[in-house]
Amino acid sequence: MGSAFTFFKFPSNSQNVFAKIIRGEIPADKVYENEHALAFRDLHPKAPVHILVIPKGEYVNLLDFTENASAPEQSAFWDAIKSVSGDLSAYRCLSNTGAPYQEVFHFHMHIMADKCNK
Ligand code: AMP
Repeated sequence: MGSAFTFFKFPSNSQNVFAKIIRGEIPADKVYENEHALAFRDLHPKAPVHILVIPKGEYVNLLDFTENASAPEQSAFWDAIKSVSGDLSAYRCLSNTGAPYQEVFHFHMHIMADKCNK
C-alpha cells in the first residue's frame, strides 16, 4: 500500500538523468556493465570512491526493484555490486527512497569507500 503511493508520487521515467546515461545520451564514467545493470562514478562524490550501481530497467526505488524486477535483472544487479565492491575491503552501501533523500527517481545503490585496495 505504501509503495503504491510512492510510485504514484515519484514515478521513474525515461527523462531522468540515469535513463539518459543508460541510453548513452549523456556521458558517464562507467566502471562496470552487464546486460541488465550499469555502474559509474558519482558526478559529485561524497567519498574518495563513490560509485552508483543501477539496473537498466525503469525501477523507481529498492522496493519497486525487489518486487517487480525479473530474476535475471536482480541477479545481474547483484553481480554488478559484487564486481564493484570486489576492489574494496571496507565500504558503505546505501540506497535512498523518496524525497528529500532521493534525488534521482531511478533505483540506484551508492557504494562509498575511503580507498580502493587494488
Ligand atoms: P540520490 O540522492 O540517492 O538520488 O543520489 C543521486 C546521486 O546521483 C547523487 O549522489 C548525485 O551526485 C548523482 N548524480 C546526479 N547526476 C549525475 C550524473 N550525470 N552522473 C553521475 N552521477 C550523478
